[in-house]
Amino acid sequence: MIADAASSCGRTDLLWCGVAAPRFVEVAVSVPVTGTFTYAVPNAWAEAPPVGAMALVPFGRRKISAIVLGPASPPEGYEALPLHEVQAHQSLPADVVGLCRWLAEYYAAPVGEALRLATPPGSHTATRTVYAWTTEGQAAWQADGFGIGKDERALLAALAAGGGKLRALTPSQKQAMPGAITRGWVVEKVLGQAAVSLKQQVMIALAPDVDVAAAQVACGRSGKQRAVLQALHEAAQQGAAQASDGLPMRVLVAEVPGAAAAVKALIARGHVITHRTAMTLEPAVVAALGGSSRPGLNPHQADALAYLRDRLDGFSCTLLFGVTGSGKTEVYLHVIEDVLARGRGALLLVPEISLTPLVAARFRARFGDAVAVLHSGLTPRERYDEWQRLQRGEAVIAVGARSAVFAPVANLGVIVVDEEHDGSYKQDDGVRYHGRDVAIMRAKQAGIPCLLGSATPSFESYFAAQSERYGLLALPVRAVADALPAVTIIDMRRYRAEATSLLTAPLRQALADTLASGGQSILLLNRRGFASSLLCETCGAPVQCKHCAVSMTWHEYARTMICHYCGYQQPRPPACPACGGASLGGHGVGTEQIATAIAAQFPTARIGRLDRDTGRREAIERVLQDVEEHAIDILVGTQMVAKGHDFANVTLVGVLCADIGLSLPDFRASERTYQLISQVAGRAGRGKKGGQVLIQTYRPEATCIAFAQQHDYPGFYAAELATRDELDYPPRVRMFAWHIDGSVDADAARIAEALAQSLRRHAGELVLVGPAPAPLTRLKGRFRYQLWGRGAPEALKAARAVHAHFMAKRGVIPAGVRVTLDVDPVSTL
Ligand code: ADP
Ligand code: ZN
Repeated sequence: MIADAASSCGRTDLLWCGVAAPRFVEVAVSVPVTGTFTYAVPNAWAEAPPVGAMALVPFGRRKISAIVLGPASPPEGYEALPLHEVQAHQSLPADVVGLCRWLAEYYAAPVGEALRLATPPGSHTATRTVYAWTTEGQAAWQADGFGIGKDERALLAALAAGGGKLRALTPSQKQAMPGAITRGWVVEKVLGQAAVSLKQQVMIALAPDVDVAAAQVACGRSGKQRAVLQALHEAAQQGAAQASDGLPMRVLVAEVPGAAAAVKALIARGHVITHRTAMTLEPAVVAALGGSSRPGLNPHQADALAYLRDRLDGFSCTLLFGVTGSGKTEVYLHVIEDVLARGRGALLLVPEISLTPLVAARFRARFGDAVAVLHSGLTPRERYDEWQRLQRGEAVIAVGARSAVFAPVANLGVIVVDEEHDGSYKQDDGVRYHGRDVAIMRAKQAGIPCLLGSATPSFESYFAAQSERYGLLALPVRAVADALPAVTIIDMRRYRAEATSLLTAPLRQALADTLASGGQSILLLNRRGFASSLLCETCGAPVQCKHCAVSMTWHEYARTMICHYCGYQQPRPPACPACGGASLGGHGVGTEQIATAIAAQFPTARIGRLDRDTGRREAIERVLQDVEEHAIDILVGTQMVAKGHDFANVTLVGVLCADIGLSLPDFRASERTYQLISQVAGRAGRGKKGGQVLIQTYRPEATCIAFAQQHDYPGFYAAELATRDELDYPPRVRMFAWHIDGSVDADAARIAEALAQSLRRHAGELVLVGPAPAPLTRLKGRFRYQLWGRGAPEALKAARAVHAHFMAKRGVIPAGVRVTLDVDPVSTL
């Protein structure tokens, strides 16, 4: 899917030629403008800054940050302004710059915007500037010769008075400064907010020459002290090279509860010493942590590993198609171990860290501090620290969601994309990149393997594997459980579901049986809130958001109506806004109402809920932890419950209404429903106890539901692909979507039509549909139109050019109208 732009991968191998003044560099700026700019390298600098260096540049009246892309030839017709101080600690690796250049072209975005995605956090925060004179500046002041203007002289005088430094500038000093910098008299230093410290950890080690046996005797009755000595002794014996470093305090505390007090006593006795080290990979620690919980590979996993081992030295993309619970993560861990053994780093992308904390935890357990986990819960400072550890090679594995695809892993050796089908890999605003596709291109540019894992691959990836562009590996059986769970379809036309809980009799019985047998259950309803909408019982009109053409959702707990598209909230209206009718009734149920109804039916059960209303990272992790520890018997939730959770004691999964989502005007609705059902079914019976899945639906005959029941992904794919091909939809063709929206309906409609005409004239090969009003016609107070383009790579290339031309034409697009191009769109709403 990314082949047509492959020829333009970024130039990462630029070398600076001999230093001949004046020198110029091409930079991308951190504001949304197309094109790149040329700046001069001040004479005083011995070298031009390297590719990826971040510098401050004068831009209009402001000073903004910019990334150096490479050398430039002298500009013609104007004089280039000088670069200001380079912020050395915030540079981007050259390979990431190359990746962003490709990304900008492929997704038709300004280079600066693309680079911003990869820029270390905190680099746009406030800085302080200090001006210092150089020896040349000092000499000029002392020589007091010709060619120094009045303002420049005053500036040098002020510097002399300030001991060679100036902070705040007067207006005349401000005017003289650029000239003084260009002449090499003054350099500008930008001080970051705070000096950046390396994360350190406290290490506990045996004192040199301590006799462990004698020390243990000396501990007398303190079992804890003996245990600490024993742990340190074992660690020392396992990793001879690191023996004197000991174990991190964290690890000790985990191994010996209450170790802290014992360590204090041991230090007092002189048996143990403490010191701090930078967080680095400690082989002894890694072995100590990972050693016990490391299953051997089964034959399917071993075959997959052997295949991947043969491909570590060049680019390849491989789809690891393994059913839920087949041990894909174990394969990732082994491949990465091999890559580390060759002295290279690794990148693992996961859909959402807060939903899959166990994957990150397994990596930490196996590789210790060599793992940098990049998640949204980090403060900018923490994120920055992790970033630095990667760049310096102290952490060699980056684990993170979409944006971690830009992580500055030094000497990258493999990229793994877990659950590659997951929708969260696609950024849905700004630069609409797809994390998986960017990962593949990063691997391609770096000449390393990319591994995509899923139990329900995206059609794009499976199609590529079928046409042998990607390798295909299968893990057809579960690693621990004996089989995939049996799936039963419950036809909701035959069984009446209870209005408030949506439970049919068979599902209610299964819930009761599971509770009685001490098992846990997961219930999926992909709609949060209480009643999904309030309908007027007189005229039938739903209460709609006044900014969006969609019904608002009633949230019982918060007692408000919330628009799930724009977040607008309002109290429940006293009467129907449309006809004034007095009675508004709930219609359609959400997770909140289900949870309440089930709590009433099963008073002894402990009920948990997981959806967007659960809250942030900590709250989500707490719910997951409660399920893990069996503090919850029944978990009710949206698609969030279907993610890669591995709960051994969940024996029942129920899908309350599989049809939600199936009727959306989206050609991927069927693929998504298949994925959702299979993934949630995959949470059942992962342990030895086995499990079952009950799916309630009004449409048992739908392809996605029938094949999901059989766990037959290839069958579903073949049937659905035929439909896609017939309608000329991806994956065989590629797709562009233009979204045109505006606060004035007529303006948006006119621009959509004008763009369509340009495309028809200049990108004739493109199959164009529209413009038409978007399914969500009005959102956040804006009128929305869509335009769809499909075609072969050449047609899409032409379309990109037309788009760029259209966007660049001045005065065509009125101020209130926005045009965005979505390359390889995943949503059609
Ligand atoms: P997936 O990522 O395919 O859903 P996981 O890697 O999470 O599967 O594995 C599911 C479970 O099986 C985990 O608890 C894991 O520890 C276990 N497991 C994986 N491989 C093996 C193996 N070869 N032998 C025993 N247990 C395994
Ligand atoms: Zn709204």
